Amino acid sequence: MLVKGVVFYLESDLPSEAKFLLEDFRLAVNNAVRAGLQSRVTSRNALCKIAYKGFRLEHPRMYAQHLVSAFEVAGSVLKNRRRRVQKGITCIIPYVKRLMMKAENQAYKLDRKSGVIDLPIRAGCHVELRLVVSQYHRKYLDDVSLTLGSLTVLPDRVIVAFRKDAPKPFVPESALSLDTNERSLDGLFVDGDVAKAVKAEFPDIAIIQQRRHDRRKRLQKKKAHDRRTSRNLCRREGAREHHRIDYRLHQVANSVLKFAEERKSVIVLEDLKGFKSKGSKELNRRLSMWPRRKLHQIIEYKAQWKGIPVFKVDPRNSSRTCPICGRIQDSRMGAEFKCECGWHLDRHINASINLLQTAISKGMAGGLWFNPGAFQHDVMMILYEPAMAARSEPNGTSGIVGVT
Ligand SMILES: [Zn+2]
Repeated sequence: MLVKGVVFYLESDLPSEAKFLLEDFRLAVNNAVRAGLQSRVTSRNALCKIAYKGFRLEHPRMYAQHLVSAFEVAGSVLKNRRRRVQKGITCIIPYVKRLMMKAENQAYKLDRKSGVIDLPIRAGCHVELRLVVSQYHRKYLDDVSLTLGSLTVLPDRVIVAFRKDAPKPFVPESALSLDTNERSLDGLFVDGDVAKAVKAEFPDIAIIQQRRHDRRKRLQKKKAHDRRTSRNLCRREGAREHHRIDYRLHQVANSVLKFAEERKSVIVLEDLKGFKSKGSKELNRRLSMWPRRKLHQIIEYKAQWKGIPVFKVDPRNSSRTCPICGRIQDSRMGAEFKCECGWHLDRHINASINLLQTAISKGMAGGLWFNPGAFQHDVMMILYEPAMAARSEPNGTSGIVGVT
């Protein structure tokens, strides 16, 4: 089952009854966290068993299902803490500061036509939340194959979870193999006898991250005498940059997936699990900062939602192997891969050829095959470039694939 959370803003302020409910809910979560810590349990059911009766007395008017979902939220807070403790990270007793509440799908009603949520507060008291519905939201509201999951209420917005069964991936008619680099995805699109280089460039992500790193360092130095201020400033800085990077990652993923969907391509990516670079300390820092895994996660998740097959392969030696004769070069190369047999190609695109060949040899679905000799050296298809991120969208042209 796939779940997608969609954010809706409200037409007006949260009604005061709902505000009180948020505060009660937070209180219940924090109490449940303490109860769970005392008796060393983390599951919703166990928390329910030990704490429900006492809670019922403390919050006699709260809707019972909201109480149960407070246990659920407390359970996930406790599980996060346990994970940190197991990793040896010292942590204080968790306290939820953010005002929020979660309601399971039986505990609220959403009229998908009008976009109005009916949220019960307690017996005989309901509030209506009117959602701001855009075209984007309509896509989810009108899709009858999507069922409703939980509802998260925050002071200024709500998040509705839409669920669906994972669609069966299509049988690929072509392949898109991508090598993930610091500033771009470089790869190869193979359709029958035709093989072309493809590129999705996002140099600004690395720039944003570098700037964030520099700013952080400067802030920490400047506010060295005041750790609290320094931490707060860094956090604010971090959140802003995080949004900007996330936005770009989603744009890149969307254009890759649009390309693959239109051409019925399987997407081949390197498996970054256990990936370790042998580069310098500086390079390692840059690589770990740059969220390649995040990009892969987004691509994989969206592909699953759309039923696009994704195949991941072990990237070992992919940037050092000659796809023609199989020789493995031992030294680091420049921008171009060169082999004694005469084969030469952009290093990143060469890596993507190797990824594709590994995928084919591992029995990637479909009768796809690829002959490196068919590669057209003079053609480059652009999947994405920074100009497409200009905030003036949507104008219906973003994400269009250009051939140069
Ligand atoms: Zn060779």
